[in-house]
Amino acid sequence: MSLILNAKPVVQVMKENLRQEVAALKAEGIEPTLGIIRVGSRPDDVYYENNIIKNCENVGIATRSYPLDFSISMEEFTAVMTQVNHNRSVHGIMLFRPLPKQLDEEVIKHLISADKDIDCMNPINLEKVFEGNMSGLLPCTPAAVIEILRYYKINLQGTNVVVMGRSLVVGKPLSMMLLKENTTVTICHSKTKDMPEVAKKADVIIAAMGKAKLIDDKYVSENSIVIDVGINDDGNGKICGDVDYNAVAEKVKAITPVPGGVGSVTTTLLLKNLVRACQSQR
Ligand code: NAD
Repeated sequence: MSLILNAKPVVQVMKENLRQEVAALKAEGIEPTLGIIRVGSRPDDVYYENNIIKNCENVGIATRSYPLDFSISMEEFTAVMTQVNHNRSVHGIMLFRPLPKQLDEEVIKHLISADKDIDCMNPINLEKVFEGNMSGLLPCTPAAVIEILRYYKINLQGTNVVVMGRSLVVGKPLSMMLLKENTTVTICHSKTKDMPEVAKKADVIIAAMGKAKLIDDKYVSENSIVIDVGINDDGNGKICGDVDYNAVAEKVKAITPVPGGVGSVTTTLLLKNLVRACQSQR
């Protein structure tokens, strides 16, 4: 019987810790506050924003929304970002992407104050991770993977981990974080040969390719711990991971479900980063 690595208890413990940390900050007269910058009103963004606000309320974090016009110019946007950067009562900034095309994300990612960059857009924060310094604001999805492995007491030291996917959002920073955990990391990508053979030998398999249900029983062994980062449409309007859960779940040692796995922890990591940002600004 494989162990299902559900997000629910992980999130519960994280939120309980966050409530205590928020209460301690409030006792010092600090009101942890998240600034949310949303350009336009895409239904996905509005839905996500409402969700974040609810999650923040749940642990006692205040929010301040900055809804901006879809046609806002780069100059006007820069003025808003600068104002939020300098506003000492806002401790973290969340900016929804993709941005309309008149706003240059390559410029904006350098504009957001690294101290308030809870979604790890600014390369300064990623650079720290690549230097092996995990004391700053961590990229949320890779940090969510580590959080799940820690909660379920999976001892990583000395293990062989295969990370499938080499994006700057997930695969690469996650590989650096796993290296910091003293694992031996193999990074696979779309040009990797014999991926099933490579994956089968690993203790931990992390799928972050954005390919619905690609990982089937050819990639796993009964000793595999499988972490599924993928969030894809299964073609029938439902969400599925990069792992073919039904084909694999009974054949491995442990596995994260989708939904109810990495994605659910990722949103709580944003709150954790906000509290970290608030503590370091203090
Ligand atoms: P991406 O498209 O930027 O990168 C995908 C990576 O996978 C690339 O490096 C590519 O080389 C590799 N790849 C693609 N096809 C492959 C194949 N057949 N074999 C091996 N490697 C292959 O995607 P991303 O932003 O890193 O996201 C990956 C997945 O994770 C997506 O499904 C995305 O929706 C999901 N995601 C989930 C969360 C979360 O919170 N759970 C957050 C971000 C992204």
